[in-house]
Amino acid sequence: MSQRIIGLLGGLSWESSAEYYRIINQLARDRLGGLHSAKILLWSFDFAEIEALQHAGRWEEATTLMIEAARRLEAGGAECVVICTNTMHLMADAVQAAIGIELLHIADPTAARIRQAGLTRVGLLGTAFTMEQDFYKGRLTRHHGLDVLVPDAQDRALVHRVIYEELVQGRVLDSSRAAYRDVMARLVAQGAQAVILGCTEIMLLVGPQDCAVPLFDTTTLHAEAALLWSLGGEIMNPASSDH
Ligand code: GLU
Repeated sequence: MSQRIIGLLGGLSWESSAEYYRIINQLARDRLGGLHSAKILLWSFDFAEIEALQHAGRWEEATTLMIEAARRLEAGGAECVVICTNTMHLMADAVQAAIGIELLHIADPTAARIRQAGLTRVGLLGTAFTMEQDFYKGRLTRHHGLDVLVPDAQDRALVHRVIYEELVQGRVLDSSRAAYRDVMARLVAQGAQAVILGCTEIMLLVGPQDCAVPLFDTTTLHAEAALLWSLGGEIMNPASSDH
């Protein structure tokens, strides 16, 4: 079976890029069998440079770097771009407009799977940028008809701090897992029927056993969507989703 080449924009952080690489190749093996693996080009950032721009609010410079990297992937022969982080979908539209290949948006396979499960009211965990700005919640609500709950300010600060001070640095602490369990329980108490792990490192910390409602892990769902696309599946964009 012919495969289209997947372009990964990674290093955001490499802790989760490694998961993308593993999940995509695992699924390629499951689907194709034998010695098969996925055809992938990876651009991997130095995350310290990106993080500095994020926290300084220098989004235009970050966008320029993301566009340059996506163009490198395209020039190298990638046939799609997969941004391996939720946060940096803030500039997904700008990146898509600057390249001639498809960008597979992380929110789309996630939302499609939630809708397939018959759920509409979801809690969202991610960086403060993802939880507080419109680029991500807006896509879930306007394009996919989901009702999105985010933690309160104190819980958002905790979730954000654990991502940047621990998870992207490879530190997975039981104390933070317990704190995340409490945050998710509060979202469930507010009516969340499911929780989106809307940061690609959160799956390193918590799993289904940590929450009373289903978890939708964006890393796994995005990676799976990329492999299915490479094998000829449809891109899961809002126009083709099931709402
Ligand atoms: N990987 C994380 C995310 O999915 C956070 C790191 C970043 O800011 O890119 O949002």
